[in-house]
Amino acid sequence: MAMVDSVTTLPERPRTVTAQPKRRRRLVVVSNRVGPVEAGKASEGGLAVALRAALEQSGGIWFGFSGTVSKQPTETPHQTTVGNITWATLDLTKQDLDDYYIGYSNRVLWPLFHYRPSLVEFSRRALAGYQRVNDLFARALQPLLEPDDLIWVHDYHLIPLANALRRLGCRQSIGFFLHTPFPAAEVMRLLPNHRELVAELCAYDLIGFQAHSHLQGFRDYVLRSGGGTDLGGTRLQAFGHELDADVFPVGIDVDNIEGLAAKAAKRSRQMRRLVDSIDDRRLLIGVDRLDYSKGLPERFAAYEYLLEHFPEIRGRTVFMQIAPPSRSDVPEYKQIRRALNHAAGSINGRYAEFDQAPLRWLNKSFNHSILTGFFRAADLALVTPLRDGMNLVVKEYLASQSADDPGMPVLSCFAGAAEELAEAIIVNPYDKEGMAEAIREGLAMPLGERQERWSAMMTTLRRNDTNAWRERFVTALSAVTAGA
Ligand code: UDP
Repeated sequence: MAMVDSVTTLPERPRTVTAQPKRRRRLVVVSNRVGPVEAGKASEGGLAVALRAALEQSGGIWFGFSGTVSKQPTETPHQTTVGNITWATLDLTKQDLDDYYIGYSNRVLWPLFHYRPSLVEFSRRALAGYQRVNDLFARALQPLLEPDDLIWVHDYHLIPLANALRRLGCRQSIGFFLHTPFPAAEVMRLLPNHRELVAELCAYDLIGFQAHSHLQGFRDYVLRSGGGTDLGGTRLQAFGHELDADVFPVGIDVDNIEGLAAKAAKRSRQMRRLVDSIDDRRLLIGVDRLDYSKGLPERFAAYEYLLEHFPEIRGRTVFMQIAPPSRSDVPEYKQIRRALNHAAGSINGRYAEFDQAPLRWLNKSFNHSILTGFFRAADLALVTPLRDGMNLVVKEYLASQSADDPGMPVLSCFAGAAEELAEAIIVNPYDKEGMAEAIREGLAMPLGERQERWSAMMTTLRRNDTNAWRERFVTALSAVTAGA
């Protein structure tokens, strides 16, 4: 049985001594999808920019899925080199993509890690595909590696990769960063192959989490269910290996977002149109990928409750929710879209007047230069995911505000960002009345208090920006003992 074999055959890892802090070692970044080869493209998100910067500093490879579905399986990556970075990408067959990406990554790990076990659709076939593609990635990557490389693997699609590389004899330092939450140990135990998966995670030399609660879930699992030992500080011993596990909260490029927002405020045509259309009403904004983890039905229900119970709000606020579709090949994503179309129609049907509607429901995406302007124009941001690894939108919203009159985020206590942004208005997204109260509190908050809270949050954002994140991770990875 593959699930059990993957643990019982965990190879003995050779000990290698590593850190050479004076010289930057070559970096190999591995992620399901790679960033664009061309710098500055609209599709290049903040994280892609951060990883490109890390690669530019030390030279290296960015390895991942090409985005192309091939008829025949292949183990030969396409390679493009620009400057000191090589993009190496592999095509996948439809079967591999269905099992590894849609089947196991997005229909098992994503819902489980976001505390939605009832949405998990586990099958051994999907799990076998997940293992198969990770093995394939390892075989395609291994010939490109040099002995002293630092390998930095990203996200839940690639948990077994370190183990697969070790089986091929790789002795490099390998780090892993989980962008999603890691659930509480008891939730993790719902996964039929939980033990094997966590054992594979423990084959890394360094594991990074977004938030302390995620690290806590991992440590609880390893120490209570996995027979692991706490070696003090960040060090653990588990499943026959020693590793470090720590928190590295992902940040944003504060200066860049600030600059875009200030520019949009002065010159953007869309911004003028938005401000004119809002007139003297108060603007609430939500921006989320259309995903069931983002708590959109609950947010709509809270807004409806507000309109129903506080008549003075009616005609005085506009809630604009932007939600570009994502993963539309997974059935749950189609369902949530239908549910939200229905809820939006019902809210507007009940509370719209002939000259205004309380809810703007935009099922499409906007680029950062427009979004940051919208953020700046909004009095409140509703950032209320049911569970989120970090949530960059709340950070971008804050960095887009003007110091003279900053808006306030209403932030879910279940977003990783809530650990850093205690000065936001923190809510439980399952508490509709509580969220409605929080919106009223935000709309009524005096300028002085808003400025004080906003300054404190901006200090945190600057300290933990995107550069700090990658520097801290790469420095920690350079210092580990590979293969301990
Ligand atoms: N985003 C965007 N255009 C949109 C909606 C979202 O560029 O129309 C960006 C948003 O600005 C943020 C990212 O998508 O940078 C979403 O990141 P977040 O961590 O909030 O959530 P995720 O989608 O990774 O779960």
